[in-house]
Amino acid sequence: MTQADYRTGRDFAEAADRADPLRHFRDEFNFPVDRNGLSCVYLCGNSLGLQPKRAVRYVEEELTDWANLGVEGHLVARRPWLPYHRLATDGLARLTGSEPREVVAMNTLTVNLHVLMTSFYRPAGRRRKIVIESTAFPSDRFAAMSQLGLHGHDPQAYLLEWTPRVADGPLVLADLEAILADNDGEVALLLLPGVQYYSGEVLPMKELCRLARGAGAAIGLDLAHAIGNVPLSLHDWGPDFAAWCSYKYLNAGPGAIGGAFVHARHLDNDPTGKLLGWWGHDEATRFRMAKSFTPADGAELWQLSNPPILSLAPVVASLELFAEAGMDRLRAKSERLTGYLDFLLRTHFAGRIGTITPADARGCQLSLVVLDGSLDAREVFDTLVAQNVVGDWREPNVIRVAPVPLYNSYGDVYEFARRLSRALGDDPVGGVL
Ligand SMILES: *Cc1c(COP(=O)(O)O)cnc(C)c1O
Repeated sequence: MTQADYRTGRDFAEAADRADPLRHFRDEFNFPVDRNGLSCVYLCGNSLGLQPKRAVRYVEEELTDWANLGVEGHLVARRPWLPYHRLATDGLARLTGSEPREVVAMNTLTVNLHVLMTSFYRPAGRRRKIVIESTAFPSDRFAAMSQLGLHGHDPQAYLLEWTPRVADGPLVLADLEAILADNDGEVALLLLPGVQYYSGEVLPMKELCRLARGAGAAIGLDLAHAIGNVPLSLHDWGPDFAAWCSYKYLNAGPGAIGGAFVHARHLDNDPTGKLLGWWGHDEATRFRMAKSFTPADGAELWQLSNPPILSLAPVVASLELFAEAGMDRLRAKSERLTGYLDFLLRTHFAGRIGTITPADARGCQLSLVVLDGSLDAREVFDTLVAQNVVGDWREPNVIRVAPVPLYNSYGDVYEFARRLSRALGDDPVGGVL
């Protein structure tokens, strides 16, 4: 849909919702409660996705099976716990464009970054440096810094930052190429996001992988804001590894179990260079409790512990919804829905509210900045909150809003614009919204 196809009136949103083939998925979710007599306009799936009703059922079923079966649930629960993590495998493989043996649901994101960097950050000789982007999520930065420290390398000297040319501007691929050229033979690892959490920019992941390979460096992608948001083709792009959390666009609940990808070229059933635990041991012989380690096949070799079933159940429930909706249809709706938000912002708030998210490289999220110097950005955000609009504030001055195609409607986006106009003090009678 081009800009010209959108219309300003509420009737456009209503017609678009009626025509939306994914509209019934909204009923699969629990929405936060009304506040001040206003329904919740939830645009925060980038931070914590809404609760799928199915997740409630799946968790309750595990609690019931545990109550009724005790330890036998490992083998005879309706979804046996021993191989439970595998219920997530196909769904994760589909969303990430991977082979099933390349992915595994395990741990949480930062833990997985460490587990995978232990295998793929192997400094040797002059090749020791790690490249991150300058506005990297703090946890990713801390993880990279501490990995350098564990190998005795000072982060001051060995952590390189890919920096946008202007503050809040897009990352320029040529600048990354320049970093790799200037540090020829010295970069061991690139740790980069698929979608930048603050700006919402989708990075050219395929090109990042190509550059890393050309420089002889390993590359890991952090897909926290990418999975369930934009189409991914990890197997073809060929990063060495990737990791993600499941509570953002995957809607699996606070602290839900995340996931990891290891490219097929590294799946050699060799335990060398990996942190080992009993869940990475071949399942068939795990309970012989042998002293020697027999590796499991595929990315499952990186598993350490038996997984928390209660935190995996919502992941399984959520992945079913993604399978039913299909990432192609979700992406098509997402482009139209976020495009509609962009259109309403340009139409009604030009010069007052801007976005730092590149129009040609974005997923659901728009990162808004207040341009009008007479307005206090934080006050605008607080006034939105008072009207039961849920987005989020990110220091220093961005309001992130993300209409997600699985449960948000065009009506939500229209209502957001209407409440924003109130927050900016527009005349409710004379205004167009
Ligand atoms: C959300 C997010 C995290 C959070 O890490 P956890 O280990 O899940 O707490 C880390 N990195 C990025 C880029 C994120 O967006």
